[in-house]
Amino acid sequence: MCIFCKIIAGEIPSSKVYEDDKILAFNDIEPQAPVHVIIIPKEHITSANAITPENSGVIAHIFETIPKIAKDLGIFDSGYRVVNNCGADGGQTVEHIHFHLTGGRQFGWPAG
Ligand code: AMP
Ligand code: ZN
Repeated sequence: MCIFCKIIAGEIPSSKVYEDDKILAFNDIEPQAPVHVIIIPKEHITSANAITPENSGVIAHIFETIPKIAKDLGIFDSGYRVVNNCGADGGQTVEHIHFHLTGGRQFGWPAG
């Protein structure tokens, strides 16, 4: 089982900020911003490369839920950045698709 599937199963503790039947959001253990939450589908999807018409509904659900999580965390109005890292060059270290929801400070663009 991958590390994020272990978090979903409760085998590894996490600081949960949102959960429903399809997705889980928890605080990143190495936050890069005042707000840094990891949002994952409960279904194991390895990366953005593995998104298909069959499983993309949960990805849409993540994006439908982001405004609610952002409101709960106080970054709805100030703004935020959502990041997905895919593969080696993308900097993906956990092979269970996840979205970083970051806020509470300004981010530059283009990102380095
Ligand atoms: P990525 O580099 O996009 O694959 O991001 C993986 C993220 O997961 C990193 O920001 C890590 O700090 C975070 N992370 C890894 N293990 C845990 C954990 N047990 N609890 C919370 N966040 C984690
Ligand atoms: Zn997994």
